[in-house]
Amino acid sequence: MSPDRPLGRPAPRTTSGHYDRSVPDCLFCGIAAGQIPATIMLDGKRTIAFRDINPQAPTHVLVVPRDHFPDVAALAAAGDGLLDELVGTAREIAVTEGIEASGYRIVFNTGQDGGQTVGHVHAHVLGGRPMTWPPG
Ligand code: 5GP
Ligand code: ZN
Repeated sequence: MSPDRPLGRPAPRTTSGHYDRSVPDCLFCGIAAGQIPATIMLDGKRTIAFRDINPQAPTHVLVVPRDHFPDVAALAAAGDGLLDELVGTAREIAVTEGIEASGYRIVFNTGQDGGQTVGHVHAHVLGGRPMTWPPG
């Protein structure tokens, strides 16, 4: 599938200089708004978690902020504790999936060479089997 905008370009900004909260035609904005169906695992105030449509491990869940940020660096730069909350949500998923003790991987693919295909920041939470290293 294609990204909601060419990777490497900044997200649209409002006149106030903040990122738009929701971007038209963004797949994960659509899922967060309930307009696009997904298997929701956790429906939080500022974050939402849903199963990846093409799972790469027994547990493969995506955790996203409801508001639109293009990548994890933009999310970190925004501050406000939202990145912390996203990681906290990832841990909650690991607990409910029963993989917290066995371990899991949190991945933020970033940009073209990072393998990012959806331009709305998302943490992959992968587990339920031993992860290999190095990644492909
Ligand atoms: P990325 O490649 O950007 O790191 O991760 C994007 C992920 O989104 C991929 O693992 C892909 O399988 C998943 N994905 C793509 N389209 C959909 C969709 O419509 N629904 C869900 N639940 N996951 C999707
Ligand atoms: Zn979005």
